[in-house]
Amino acid sequence: MANNRKCAICGKMYSYCPGCGEDKDKPAWMTTFDSNNCRMIYKITSNYIGKAITIDQAREQLKEYDLTRTDKYNEVIAERIDEIMKIENPKFTKKKKKTAYSEQTE
Ligand SMILES: [Zn+2]
Repeated sequence: MANNRKCAICGKMYSYCPGCGEDKDKPAWMTTFDSNNCRMIYKITSNYIGKAITIDQAREQLKEYDLTRTDKYNEVIAERIDEIMKIENPKFTKKKKKTAYSEQTE
């Protein structure tokens, strides 16, 4: 099957066909996101933007997910991730491609 979808967060092309046998058991969110990671990042940042959660809650939740590819992300989402993460780690920025966000142990 051709890659017929584009992830709303990371822009990656992927295939998902809910009407086809091989994909019928896959989750419905795959119409919008290629991975659970992208889905959750979207959900957390949306909750933060909508003030459903605080910036601290958003940061705690985002730590659970892979933020190493945010330079590829939707600009609006990437900026929010920067905003949320840089409070605790000023070095965190989507422009540093090689430096993944990692928890400070000190
Ligand atoms: Zn994605």
